Amino acid sequence: MTRRRVAVLGAGIMGSSTALHLARLGVPVTVFDHENAPFRGASRWNEGKIHLGFLYAADPTLGTARAVLPGGLDFKDQVETLTAIALGPVTTPGDDLYLVHRDSVTAPEAAARYFAAVSELVRSHPEAHRYLTDASRTRVERLSPAELFDLADPSVVVAGFRVPERSVDTNRVADAFVDALDGEPLIELRPGRHVTGVASLGEQRDRWRVHTTNGRDGDAHDEDGPFDVVVNALWEGRPRVDRTVGHRPDSAEHHRYRVSLFVRTATALEPRSAVLAVGPFGDVKSYGERDFYLSWYPTGLLARAEAVDPPPVPALNDGERERIATEVFATLGHVLPWVRDIERAAADVRVQGGWVYSQGGGLLDDPVAAVHRRDRLGISRLGSYFSVDTGKYSVAPTLAERLARAVAEV
Ligand SMILES: Cc1cc2nc3c(=O)[nH]c(=O)nc-3n(C[C@H](O)[C@H](O)[C@H](O)COP(=O)(O)OP(=O)(O)OC[C@H]3O[C@@H](n4cnc5c(N)ncnc54)[C@H](O)[C@@H]3O)c2cc1C
Repeated sequence: MTRRRVAVLGAGIMGSSTALHLARLGVPVTVFDHENAPFRGASRWNEGKIHLGFLYAADPTLGTARAVLPGGLDFKDQVETLTAIALGPVTTPGDDLYLVHRDSVTAPEAAARYFAAVSELVRSHPEAHRYLTDASRTRVERLSPAELFDLADPSVVVAGFRVPERSVDTNRVADAFVDALDGEPLIELRPGRHVTGVASLGEQRDRWRVHTTNGRDGDAHDEDGPFDVVVNALWEGRPRVDRTVGHRPDSAEHHRYRVSLFVRTATALEPRSAVLAVGPFGDVKSYGERDFYLSWYPTGLLARAEAVDPPPVPALNDGERERIATEVFATLGHVLPWVRDIERAAADVRVQGGWVYSQGGGLLDDPVAAVHRRDRLGISRLGSYFSVDTGKYSVAPTLAERLARAVAEV
């Protein structure tokens, strides 16, 4: 299929990767997004953990680890092929530290068993060497009491593990994708168009029109088409548009809006990354000596709903951003004293965020909540209408390649 028209809805990492894969297959694509440029949402403002599965200790079935592992191992090759960026210089330089919080939903011994099982899963995967660092010799090391004492408040952190997981600087990756989209002649971008629905032209579900307004609250309606294929990669906007073609998921929908700190320091600091696991806690990532990501979940969670539509997000003025930044630094700095060095050296602090969508809801401090699982992500289809639940940033490019192949065969 080369001359058929494909509409991709959403220009985050999922929609953009799909469009680029399609264009490389010779398929012309029109990409819609209500922002004025691609990569303005979650795909720019996240932590960039390229999952091997360690985060999902509250899913001891390993279902989530198995679901996210192949995309994580493939991420580097995918992104370097789709864009002109080399990921080495924008990747966290050292191992990640999983620090078990005293209120964790997974006790230290259960966490140790889980990390050992994931480590075995990673090591035995034939593609393990293709990860951001060679993961084929993956070993998880338990931190000694002295190492733990050096890193964290021992009254809060009860165990620690060093794992070979890495994160990437999502801002730099986003810029590389924007350049790649701009340089691709078969991709036409439609920025500033809010998609309100998709309509089938006839019974066969093989021709579609895309209905839009000018921006989120715009009153100028428009329709584009006909398209032979539509790919819905709208993330938080996806369920509502799916409803307009009669497509429904078989589980509850859960939206959370989270903000974090994106910090640049004036001076170089020792790069250290840590995640407080497992529950509603926080993370620190250092993508190099001067670029850091910090999150404290209870402070950064601005909106949450188990509903088809994302709830409204409160607008943040300068004072509120300042309050969030102060609270995140203070809370993390209390548990991880070295975070205070980042705060002292901070020259630029941005409070930014995006949506997290998941099938199944519940709260992170509930050990059996569905929110601890990400094994239901992926592609569903109604005729030549495709809908994709990205699930995780790290799996998007691989999922997009599979999606593009399916689209090209329509
Ligand atoms: C704070 C935070 C930390 C995270 N950390 C990680 C992590 O470490 N590792 C990981 O793998 N994942 C992480 N995630 C999840 C990850 O960010 C998402 O899974 C991923 O970015 C989703 O990509 P996407 O392209 O599907 O969505 P998006 O990047 O949100 O793209 C969707 C696009 O659709 C547009 N859009 C939405 N509705 C409409 C509409 N109706 N009309 C027109 N346009 C519309 C939006 O403007 C947006 O550009 C995190 C998320 C957050 C918020």
